Amino acid sequence: MATVIPSPPRVGMVSLGCPKNLVDSERILTQLRADGYQMSPDYAGADVVLVNTCGFLDSAKEESLEAIGEAIAENGRVIVTGCMGKEAETIRARFPQVLAITGAHQYEQVVEAVHEAAPANLSPYIDLIPDAGLKLTPRHYSYLKISEGCNHRCSFCIIPSLRGDLVSRRPDAILREAEKLVAAGTRELLVISQDTSAYGLDLRHASWPLKGGGEVRAHMTDLARELGRIAPWVRLHYVYPYPHVDQVIPLMAEGLVLPYLDIPFQHAAPAVLRRMKRPANDAKVLGRIKAWRDICPDLAIRSTFVVGFPGETEEDFQYLLDWLDEAQLDRVGAFRFEPVEGAAANLLPDPVPEAVKEERYARIMEKTAAISAARLAAKVGRTLDVIVDAVDDEGGATGRSTADAPEIDGEVFLRDAGHLAVGDIVPVVIEDADEHNLYGAPVAPR
Ligand code: SF4
Repeated sequence: MATVIPSPPRVGMVSLGCPKNLVDSERILTQLRADGYQMSPDYAGADVVLVNTCGFLDSAKEESLEAIGEAIAENGRVIVTGCMGKEAETIRARFPQVLAITGAHQYEQVVEAVHEAAPANLSPYIDLIPDAGLKLTPRHYSYLKISEGCNHRCSFCIIPSLRGDLVSRRPDAILREAEKLVAAGTRELLVISQDTSAYGLDLRHASWPLKGGGEVRAHMTDLARELGRIAPWVRLHYVYPYPHVDQVIPLMAEGLVLPYLDIPFQHAAPAVLRRMKRPANDAKVLGRIKAWRDICPDLAIRSTFVVGFPGETEEDFQYLLDWLDEAQLDRVGAFRFEPVEGAAANLLPDPVPEAVKEERYARIMEKTAAISAARLAAKVGRTLDVIVDAVDDEGGATGRSTADAPEIDGEVFLRDAGHLAVGDIVPVVIEDADEHNLYGAPVAPR
């Protein structure tokens, strides 16, 4: 039976007050979009309405209270944020049914209140951030969505029918968002979209003026370079190996962008890729990976693969295992093929029996775990930069190297790290490794 994708919850927004408040509203909506929500232009279509209030003058407070009253009358499920959040008692006295009240700049609390009021039904088939991203994104890293939709028509995917063709955000708006995130404590930007390498195609790669002079082109390379000037760490997700991807590798070698590429290859056998209708399906990709590593030896490549796609033969699968031996990818996630309601692949002949899918899944996991273990073992003895995600009470800490995206890759477990704070980026001597994680100690401060 085909998996049915639930429709995403919709959020309505009423934004009052000054331009600063508007920027806060934009930031909240950007985070919610990244979390899988859609926006509703009217009260009737919204699962929950956010009212971002102004409390600067008495007249502004009255206007805010009227807006809350209108949202309650029209929709009923209302969350209040913004400057009037300081006066929660006044709001509650008049509107006891308000679901939550948070203050100005409390982005995380507003987003959490929306998650509680209208859970996001994250689906691995259509959403870009991992399930665990639904827990509140900590301040030190943020997802930055640069476009919506997709121009490809992969046969197993329903995103184009749900979200439409590629629509890129303006590069100046993305950079402004990045600056605000960094000013609010973000140290690592995770660039997401359905197809990051296609960014700006719909804008004809036009240039936009930059605030401090110069201009930026709506193109992945230019955007990555500018983001690298704003945030300490910039990580690129969902990149397809188009020829112009070669241009970001020098930025990685220079240290402007993390030496990390998340490329969802999904398969390697030409016949399967053809049936999947995958973009950038280039037989020379192994040679390109080698050339990238020659320029940037620390480049980590993460990917996902589907096993048991209709018509996948034992030869196709063995081709994939041999390809993985050559490609030596650092991180791999694998999925057994499952039909998704509405996907063209459901009509393909020769479904692979479940038992065969299971057997292939076990084989690919075994292969990729062994490659990962060997690549991590080669890091023992080296000093790597690590970003701290959590510090415990016993002098330990957990972090990630440049090769590890949050939630989907491995971790670095640190000893003697009680002096560190979440978001610190520190050099760490790697002392041990297993299949997925590293172990080490921060270099002692001199
Ligand atoms: S590239 Fe393919 S899998 Fe990715 S969103 Fe577009 S159609 Fe779907």
